Amino acid sequence: MDDTLLMLPGPTSVAPRVLKAMSNNIVNHRSAIFGEIFTETTELMSEVFKTQNQSYLLTGSGTSAMEAAIANTIKPGEKILNVVGGKFGQRFMQIANSFGIDAQELAVEWGTAVTPEQVKIALENDEDIKAVTVVHNETSTGVAAPIEEIGKVMKNYDALYIVDTVSSLGGDRVDVDNYGIDICVTGSQKCLAAPPGLAAITLNDEAWKVIDNTDSNTYYLDMKKYKKSGAGTPPETPYTPSVSLIYALFEALKIIKEEGLENRVVRHETAAEASRNAVKALGLEIFPDEKVSSTTVTAVKMPENVTDAELRGTMRNKYKVELAGGQDHLKGNIFRIGHMGNISYKELAITFSALGMTLKGLGFDIDMGAGVAAVNESYL
Ligand code: PLP
Repeated sequence: MDDTLLMLPGPTSVAPRVLKAMSNNIVNHRSAIFGEIFTETTELMSEVFKTQNQSYLLTGSGTSAMEAAIANTIKPGEKILNVVGGKFGQRFMQIANSFGIDAQELAVEWGTAVTPEQVKIALENDEDIKAVTVVHNETSTGVAAPIEEIGKVMKNYDALYIVDTVSSLGGDRVDVDNYGIDICVTGSQKCLAAPPGLAAITLNDEAWKVIDNTDSNTYYLDMKKYKKSGAGTPPETPYTPSVSLIYALFEALKIIKEEGLENRVVRHETAAEASRNAVKALGLEIFPDEKVSSTTVTAVKMPENVTDAELRGTMRNKYKVELAGGQDHLKGNIFRIGHMGNISYKELAITFSALGMTLKGLGFDIDMGAGVAAVNESYL
C-alpha cells in the first residue's frame, strides 16, 4: 500500500474505522436493515448541514449534486446567476449552460471573494434571475465566500440560494437554515473524510415548491424521485445506491458527531492558521487575499524559478507528501495544501518540514526549519 501523506483538498485520507465499515457485507438496499442505516446517515448529514430539512444521498461525486441543484430548479431559457471566482464557480455555469439555461456570470477575480453587495447589485439589475449559485470554499483558489452575509441579501429576493459546500462542510462554518440557504450540496471525500463517490444535497420548502413545478432536466438526478423513494417504508433511493460507501459515510459522520462539529471547525481553523504562518515563515506567499483565505485549503504562489514538477515532485517522490497543483491558468503558478478532514498537527509538521527541505534542496537560502517552527508555535 502506498503510504504517501495526502495533503490534498480532497480526496482525503479516511480513518481505519471508516475503511472497516466499508468492508461489511452488502445487504438488500430495499430492506428494513438498510433503511435504518440510510435514515441514520441522512439524519446525521442534516445535522452537519445544520438543517431541519431532509438530506439526500446521491451515488455520484460532488458534481452530481451540483447538477441536481440546477437541473431540477431552472428551466431551459430561464436565468441563473453564477458567481465565478474559480474552477468550481465555472462548473456551476457550465452545468447551467449544458441545460440551455441562460447563465449570467458574476465574475470575481480569482483569489478574491464575491461581496454581498455585488450579489445585491446583480439581483437589483435583473429581476428575472431564478437562482444564484455560490461556491462557499473555492478549492481552486483557496478562497472562502461570505455565505452567511450573502444569505442576508438573498432573503430579500425570490431567487433560490444554491451553495456548494463540497470542500467546506465539516471543516468550516456552514449553517444551512440560519444562512437562508435553499439548496446546499456537498461531497463525501473532503472535510467529511469519507471515500470519494457520494454526494449529499439538502433542499428546503422554497426549493421544493420550485422543483414540484419544474420538469426535471435529468433522469438519474430527478429529485422528485429521491423524495418519493426516501419517504417510503423503508426509506430507499430510486436506484441501487453505493451500499458500501453509505456504510463508510455513516461511520465518518459518527466520527464527526463524536468530535463535535464546532470542535472540528476550530481544529480546521487552527490548521489553516498554522499553514499560513508556516508558508510565510518559509518566505513564500499566500495566493488569495488573506482576509478571505480558506479554512480547509491554503493556496501558495509558486516561488520564482521553480517548476511545479520540481516542487511537488520532490515533495511526492522524496518526502512522500502529496500536494495539489494549480488548475486552469493557475497551473504551475500556485500549489495547494489541503488541511481538511483528519489533518492536524502531526501531518502539518511533516508537510512543512518536508517543504522546508524541498526548498532548501532547490537552492533557496532559507532556514529550512522555519516552517515547522511556525506550525509548532501555532499549536503550542
Ligand atoms: N465543488 C468544489 C468546491 C470542489 O472542490 C469540488 C471538487 O474538488 C467539486 C465541487 C466537485 O466535486 P467532485 O470532484 O466530487 O465531483
